[in-house]
Amino acid sequence: MFRIGVDVGGTGIQFGVLDEKLNIMSEYSIPTVTSDPFSNQVGRIVDGVLAVTAQAGLSKDKISSVGVGIPGIANQNTGEVIFCTNMGWSHVPFGEEFRQRLDIPVRIENDANVAALAESVAGISKGTSSSVFITIGTGIGSGIIINGKIWGGAHGIGGELGHVIFDLNGYPCTCGNHGCLERYCSATALIRMAREAIARHPDTLMLKMVSNDITKVEARTVIDAAREEDPLAVEVYATYIDYLAQAVANIVNLLDPEVIVIGGGVSKAGSFLIDPLRRRYTKYVLYNDQTMPKIKLAVCGAKAGIIGAAMLS
Ligand SMILES: [Zn+2]
Repeated sequence: MFRIGVDVGGTGIQFGVLDEKLNIMSEYSIPTVTSDPFSNQVGRIVDGVLAVTAQAGLSKDKISSVGVGIPGIANQNTGEVIFCTNMGWSHVPFGEEFRQRLDIPVRIENDANVAALAESVAGISKGTSSSVFITIGTGIGSGIIINGKIWGGAHGIGGELGHVIFDLNGYPCTCGNHGCLERYCSATALIRMAREAIARHPDTLMLKMVSNDITKVEARTVIDAAREEDPLAVEVYATYIDYLAQAVANIVNLLDPEVIVIGGGVSKAGSFLIDPLRRRYTKYVLYNDQTMPKIKLAVCGAKAGIIGAAMLS
């Protein structure tokens, strides 16, 4: 039998058929159309599932399950999507709509949880029973794996590292609170920190790298300038690493997993991110003379969404 993984994103929806050895046999994608009514959006996803099945040369009775990863949260028992801002979904019966169209078991799950599962079955945390995955991009996503399974909480709303409060009087967050961790640890945060620093000290390589247009400063600008040892970039980057180290230490103090996996856009910095993070985080861990979790870079990349979603059931 074969499984299908669906990765729903704000701009596109990816589909993949996996065989029993987790090889992706066939891939297919469609653009996301958020202006469509909800039931039409589900219809397009079902059509995509059928298209990728046909493309793999299979009939639908060879598909044992479909897993769907979304940038939001869902109730595992009912298949209801509670919240998915990018798609414009709020309290919609995704599982029910899907099943009315296609008689194949379907599971729906948060995309960071899906990526965490992908890394634990086919990626860098394979073979471990506990891991935490952190994806660092525009925001902070996270997924917890315990005993080889996603831990999304008793009510499906757990594992939200990005909205753990870091600074009570801190920066406002998109969620309505102040000082959430993602305001300090995301790529967006690194960019904000760099722009604030540049406004105070414009004599920096970072500004030269963007032809003096501060609005063009990206996370990569800071990382590249820090590699070149530009003093201001080094200072901003060190502060950023320190925030990330505190985030990692919080995970260790709470869960003490075997591995903490770092993915997302900022993780492209590779050892320039992970090495100082490894050195720094133990400073903030309570029992830091004990064995510490390993910090590793994610390896599944863009395929994590398909692989992890296919492994949901
Ligand atoms: Zn928040």
